[in-house]
Amino acid sequence: MHARWLTFLQRFSFVLKNKSGAQNRVADALSRRTALLTKLQLEAPDLSSIQELYATDDDFAEPWGKLTSEPPMPHRDYSLRHNFLFKDNVLCIPASSWREHLIKEVHSGGLSAHVGRTKTLEQMQNRFYWPHLRRDVARFVERCPICQLYKGNAQNTGFYTPLPIPNSIWEDLSMDFVLGLPRTKRGFDSIMVVVDRFSKMAHFLACRKTFDALSVAILFFKEIVRLHGLPRSITSDRDVKFVSHFWRELWKRLRTEIKLSSAYHPQTDGQTEVVNRTLGNMLRCLAHEHPKQWDEYIGQAEFAYNAMSNRSTGQCPFSIVYTKCPNHIVDIAVLPQCKSKVAAKTTEVYSKMLQDVREKLELANDSYKEQANAHRRMKIFNPGDLVMVRLRKERFPPGTHSKLSPRKIGPVPIVRRINDNAYIVDLPPTFLTPATFNVSDIFAYHSPDAGNVQSISSGEETSAAGET
Ligand SMILES: [Zn+2]
Repeated sequence: MHARWLTFLQRFSFVLKNKSGAQNRVADALSRRTALLTKLQLEAPDLSSIQELYATDDDFAEPWGKLTSEPPMPHRDYSLRHNFLFKDNVLCIPASSWREHLIKEVHSGGLSAHVGRTKTLEQMQNRFYWPHLRRDVARFVERCPICQLYKGNAQNTGFYTPLPIPNSIWEDLSMDFVLGLPRTKRGFDSIMVVVDRFSKMAHFLACRKTFDALSVAILFFKEIVRLHGLPRSITSDRDVKFVSHFWRELWKRLRTEIKLSSAYHPQTDGQTEVVNRTLGNMLRCLAHEHPKQWDEYIGQAEFAYNAMSNRSTGQCPFSIVYTKCPNHIVDIAVLPQCKSKVAAKTTEVYSKMLQDVREKLELANDSYKEQANAHRRMKIFNPGDLVMVRLRKERFPPGTHSKLSPRKIGPVPIVRRINDNAYIVDLPPTFLTPATFNVSDIFAYHSPDAGNVQSISSGEETSAAGET
């Protein structure tokens, strides 16, 4: 890794600017501070070679010719900035070794993690243009030996969570664990994956399988609270006992007097499973030669993950949280610094963007909701409630069910709620059928002598009993 950075950095010149003290006076303790200010700055030496290529390039000679003629002729699609050719807002790259070099940097460079064709293409199209960029990226990724070796074939499916959509960044998180990795020199064998359910931004934290709730709380405080403050909710794949213990430990660290109660919703969060699979692929690709050093690469994987756009939000997590994507190597080293129009109306654009994100998340959830709601009725019963239960045909021994058998029996009291969908009722012993009923077969019982109509039941079917 270090070697790779060195060879990479060697391609650039570092400018060490030594700002001298005012008027070169003898530096005292205070002025020395400024005297020692040093600026490290990357400069891209090769870029000018691109400028020379435009004039003879098959694809760009024509617009280049027009724009550089005397007097310049404006072009519909192309523009000149700092003597570089831009199409719309992205830099044109003439046919040269630069093209492959840039794809390589974006796909597998020091801040990349072998993301797939679509994501690599997205990152390229945000910055560069040349005809057949799409084809070139596809070819490159398809042939990447590391991708071919280390990526599973898991299809990109994920089910959407029925969890409510968060309102803002880093408030509602999910926390999951990737276990069973090779033990590294530092003793790590697991990764704690913390995902902000709004921006989808993720942090990958190396940990140990043996970490108890206290250690996890300490790690969480150090790495998540430090950056993002306290979450309102955490969803986790760990058991309730672990999570509640963790939650208590976390709050204990805050030494607060506020009494907090917690509600637990045992649900799965499909989003995290997708993250975990992506993470697995990235780490395999990055640490391919040294699987026992994966902990040295999770920073790189995290950056790459947060820099690529997410399917639900359509944006990269970084830009939702930070308003822009942090610089990739190619942004510093290659792209000319002339993104002028970005700065101006940031706040307005940002709040609009957050709104957009929320709408996208809602859309993504809708398909799930529709499906789920088709089967769901919000009926909650409590122990002791009198209900009618439907006896479906299959509950009767063969041959004993007749069309004239009652459809329901009851009233019988609810004994116990197993979950929102299943209850145990107190069935008379004459019925030789399990006492567990699906909620769809349970109907609120309306006693005939209950005079006033305040029923909140949803069952139309029970109205037959109440006919006057
Ligand atoms: Zn690759």
